[in-house]
Amino acid sequence: MNQSIPLVDVKAQYAPLIPELEERFSSVLESGRFIFGPEVEAFEREAAAFLGVPHAIGVANGTDALVIALEALEIGPGDEVICPAFTFYATAEAIVRAGATPVFADIDPVTLNLDPEDVAARITPRTKAIMAVHLFGRPAPLKELSAFGLPVIEDAAQAFGAEGVATTGICSTFSFFPTKNLFALGDGGLVTCLDDGVAERVRMLRFHGSRDKTTFELVGMNSRLDAVQAAMLRVFLPRLTGWNAGRREAAARYAGLGLGESVELPADEPGHVYHMYVVRSSRRAGIAPVLAEAGIASASYYVTPLHLQPALAFLGYERGSLPETERMAAENLALPMWGCIGSDVQERVVEAVRTAVGVPA
Ligand SMILES: *Cc1c(COP(=O)(O)O)cnc(C)c1O
Repeated sequence: MNQSIPLVDVKAQYAPLIPELEERFSSVLESGRFIFGPEVEAFEREAAAFLGVPHAIGVANGTDALVIALEALEIGPGDEVICPAFTFYATAEAIVRAGATPVFADIDPVTLNLDPEDVAARITPRTKAIMAVHLFGRPAPLKELSAFGLPVIEDAAQAFGAEGVATTGICSTFSFFPTKNLFALGDGGLVTCLDDGVAERVRMLRFHGSRDKTTFELVGMNSRLDAVQAAMLRVFLPRLTGWNAGRREAAARYAGLGLGESVELPADEPGHVYHMYVVRSSRRAGIAPVLAEAGIASASYYVTPLHLQPALAFLGYERGSLPETERMAAENLALPMWGCIGSDVQERVVEAVRTAVGVPA
């Protein structure tokens, strides 16, 4: 009997590291330091060095990271932030949480990232920032998006290790949710900053708006990366480049095996780290059940894009207002992908897709 194939096999990635993780966990237990302290500081230093940024600040999760970045940049009521609608809900939710207004721009149908031309058309005197999401691990067009002269915030939750990520935007945010390319064994997040003053505000905002735990200068929040998670992340970070290379090899293997004419493969790009391997097909509805029948997981992302979500109805977007976003929402299909997926697994996936779309083996 064939084993079932998950969409992401997190455990396959960390299983060989369990002895090392146990050792690191024991050392945190031994230290008795669970909040801030040396593990968090060391991870922040190592992450900053890896990304090539001056400041990396651990927070509780990727959603808090977004809210804190916006607040550190003093973006709030009356301000507009341009972002995509084809992304995880937290991207826009954080903008609303900060008191500002999300303005949705359409995506480029090839890269699935913000379309700079459509962004340009939505800039108003109230626009305070552009929130670029590196969707599915593919770097967003930061050069084009920076050319508007507005601050760029990078939602890099899906793109730790992707080329150039975090080195252009004034703030960038990451999530260490267990399925992300760099992950913790629970929740975790990171804000990186290029500016010393902004970094200082991020540090304060994650701890109740205080520098010294005595004087409270801002209304912040309690959003900390746990020492235990920082210790786990320090085991994973040195493995990330290998895992991302494994994802790129797996993407090349999918492309080489061929899925049939009615399935459009994701366009490659050198810095793409394939957080998800997302194909596009107008015949999606016929493919997913055949995969499920073969014990293979697949998923469709952002099927209701953010501009059509009930919580954001107050923004007044109608169906049809973001045509490329809506088409991708209707046609995307993510196939199994992780840092050490095997070619045997990929061959089974490809065979099932080809069966579904009627391509002879
Ligand atoms: C995962 C994700 C987030 C949120 O991260 P959490 O750690 O789950 O809060 C935000 N934006 C994008 C694009 C994500 O993929």
